[in-house]
Amino acid sequence: MTTPTRRIVLVGHGMVAVRLLDQLGRVTTERPTPLDVTVVGDEPHDPYNRLLLSEVLAGRAELGRLTLPEPTGSPGMTVRVLRGVAATVLDRDRRVVHCDDGSEHPYDTVVLATGSAAREPLPGCADEGVRMLRTIDDCRELLAACSYPRRAVVVGGGLLGLEIACGLAGRGAAVQVLHRGTHVLDRQLPPAAGAVAGAALAHAGVEVLTEADLESVRRDDDRLVGVRLRDGRELPADLVVASAGVVPRTEIAARAGLPVRTGIVVDDDLRSPADPRVAAIGDCAETPDGCPGLLAPGWAQADRLARDLAGLPPVPTAPAPNAVVKLKAVGVDVVTIGDGPEPPAGAHTVTLSDPMGRRHVQVSVADDRVVAACCVGAKRVAADLTAAYERGGPVPPDPALLLLDGLPTATVSATDDPTTMPSATTVCRCNGVTKKDIVDAHVAGDRDLSAVAARTRATTGCGGCTEVVCGLLAWMDDVNPPNDVEPSNDVAHRKHSRNDPGNFGAVTSCTTQKEISR
Ligand SMILES: Cc1cc2nc3c(=O)[nH]c(=O)nc-3n(C[C@H](O)[C@H](O)[C@H](O)COP(=O)(O)OP(=O)(O)OC[C@H]3O[C@@H](n4cnc5c(N)ncnc54)[C@H](O)[C@@H]3O)c2cc1C
Repeated sequence: MTTPTRRIVLVGHGMVAVRLLDQLGRVTTERPTPLDVTVVGDEPHDPYNRLLLSEVLAGRAELGRLTLPEPTGSPGMTVRVLRGVAATVLDRDRRVVHCDDGSEHPYDTVVLATGSAAREPLPGCADEGVRMLRTIDDCRELLAACSYPRRAVVVGGGLLGLEIACGLAGRGAAVQVLHRGTHVLDRQLPPAAGAVAGAALAHAGVEVLTEADLESVRRDDDRLVGVRLRDGRELPADLVVASAGVVPRTEIAARAGLPVRTGIVVDDDLRSPADPRVAAIGDCAETPDGCPGLLAPGWAQADRLARDLAGLPPVPTAPAPNAVVKLKAVGVDVVTIGDGPEPPAGAHTVTLSDPMGRRHVQVSVADDRVVAACCVGAKRVAADLTAAYERGGPVPPDPALLLLDGLPTATVSATDDPTTMPSATTVCRCNGVTKKDIVDAHVAGDRDLSAVAARTRATTGCGGCTEVVCGLLAWMDDVNPPNDVEPSNDVAHRKHSRNDPGNFGAVTSCTTQKEISR
């Protein structure tokens, strides 16, 4: 008996939707399942790496190279993509999705992956000239607006706000950040660490105004000229960028009568409690764990749902790695591990603070494991603690040793010799890709970054591992050359520079950060 084809309509074509398509291709290659997928995406572009938009602003990634790798296909799975088309109505009685181009798409299961939108700090302020950074079009407009040095105000001292602020400062603007709390990154950092981060930002050319609340935007005729704060202060500015959080895009679900709170309510199985034929994943979904608004939980949801849609039993998965947060800002290194700014109760916590040196490190250890940490201006210690946390292995009982000495063998950085890096070292944290996975991909014939990214998914998340992956590929080119090329003796010290023409949705092709910033 042949299995009937299941019709899936996927609303949204962002990073989580692409992950679902890719994972569907992978799992149905394992177990062929006839699937007919229609993707409806309202952005007119190929899907792209949204995380790297702030890196584009910082000049560390190129706008034209953010396209995500083509999802894996499988025999029996057909995928039709509608770009620049918005789904407007979800008719649950007829099981049809209506779109703004007049088309209708019947479904057996509809998956909502509509993401979120940037929150306006004041209603209607976007119409008054305040800019946001959510889409590739926003990024283009922002780049055009900051093409010459100017006075910029960034509203919001969270992760994205600071990334934007540092990006603008790097482009020569005088930047002030308005932050409501008593210190920046107050959802991640305790006050002392926040103060050190503030000093590091000042050193990078970003002035932070704390307990500063935006009251209105000041305009002169048709031109934005500054902002007014609730305490009466007025700040001149010719560019105002808001980063005041996100709002899940729930409109289509709400109109269809589905339960919506902050996001589209779904149970652990990612289905709406009101209608099991409707699933929601990514930023738009509110699972029993809430709406984190981060990529890793969205990808984990996509992986689970793909198995479910292919009729496969669930597999136990590790918790999504969203407990490690890294600020992607030039000149200000901040990494936090664990939930929230306060160290866990009962853990042995040690702090080393050097405000003059703009360094602050804190680690909490319980049961011989790293359970929380925050590091400002201490890249190497941050990398070591992250590796120790993710490995979950025992660490020296005195936490102070972790801050003073680090864990010399635990970390991976772009400067590490790929020959000595242990095979099991995680290279791409976003996707759990190890050195061995990269080596295996190279041996299987993937010799450029786009091929390795397509097979392993390395570099397709935050892009922070690109340099290390390039180093590994350069090393592998030497130890595993094509048949007509002699291996080189100078494996370990070869410069990591390759010219890869493909798009891979990561920082750029195999070029070192130094080369990029030149
Ligand atoms: C600049 C920036 C930096 C970030 N950095 C990080 C980071 O370092 N780490 C991290 O974890 N997260 C980061 N994020 C958040 C991360 O990008 C999101 O968590 C992730 O993109 C969520 O993916 P998604 O597919 O759920 O939603 P989205 O990426 O928002 O995609 C949803 C898509 O659906 C489309 N859509 C919506 N409604 C409809 C409709 N009715 N019909 C058709 N299409 C529709 C939208 O236009 C969009 O294209 C960052 C976000 C930004 C903007």
